[in-house]
Amino acid sequence: MLGMGTWEIGDAQDEKRALEVKALRRGIELGMSMIDSAEMYGYGNAEKLVGQAIKGIRDDVFIATKVSPEHFSYEGILSSCESSIRRLGVEHIDLYQLHWPSHQVPIGETMKAMEELVAHGKIRYIGVSNFSVAQTLKARESLPRSEIASNQIRYSLTHRSIESGLLPFCEREKLTVIAYQPLDSGKLPGSKIPQALLEKYSMTPAQLMLNWVTYRNGVVAIPKAANVEHVEENAVAVRTRISADDYRALSRIFE
Ligand code: NAP
Repeated sequence: MLGMGTWEIGDAQDEKRALEVKALRRGIELGMSMIDSAEMYGYGNAEKLVGQAIKGIRDDVFIATKVSPEHFSYEGILSSCESSIRRLGVEHIDLYQLHWPSHQVPIGETMKAMEELVAHGKIRYIGVSNFSVAQTLKARESLPRSEIASNQIRYSLTHRSIESGLLPFCEREKLTVIAYQPLDSGKLPGSKIPQALLEKYSMTPAQLMLNWVTYRNGVVAIPKAANVEHVEENAVAVRTRISADDYRALSRIFE
């Protein structure tokens, strides 16, 4: 249910990078074995740091990364994928995602290349990100031989817009929702979360947010934490599930 994001990882200087690798490595050890990256994060540096973090343990990890829309041409997809594979130091990518829709390149051209990558074993699953219901349907129609496995979308206790359409669509069509910014980029809602609830489950606000966001079947979350203490806190966030009543009560508070 929980993986790790890598936005802003690899942006900083060398000393901080070693700590970021350590944090990712610790998260994998604790079971947050899906890592989400993107070719654009740190201009490739995030993927390079992921590569360092998974050295020797690649088979324990599910690697997801993303290609940017400026590379959605047929040739662009093939070449971007090769570059990501090289930076990550892997033989294949587990989930290759279109970072957000392109208004320039027809989706059919992009998906032709994605299917070719699957056929050649370069990627295992195709995903999209920031795609609406209509865009997801169109993308799916362009894939004669494959399914779309997931849609990566902003979703947290405090950002709920997908609940009115995209989330039920993904649930119905069995696309995994990968919730990004599940901690609202670290802007935790503090006092709005009832203290009684935190005490009942012995959870911190971040843990309760992660527990809440992964409550529904088919939703996984990718909190990013460069700080090892945050990683350790997040990794145990879903060991106990909150009750259905508490899930609904919390949902109502933030509606
Ligand atoms: P986020 O995961 O909601 O929040 C990250 C922030 O929360 C960091 O500042 C982190 O601090 C802090 N944090 C982590 N654990 C914490 C804890 N237990 N207590 C308090 N603070 C904590 O935001 P995000 O990084 O923007 O989103 C997650 C991932 O989603 C990204 O890294 C990226 O992989 C993906 N994403 C995708 C898209 C897209 O368009 N597809 C867009 C945005 C993000 P430290 O780093 O100091 O630990």
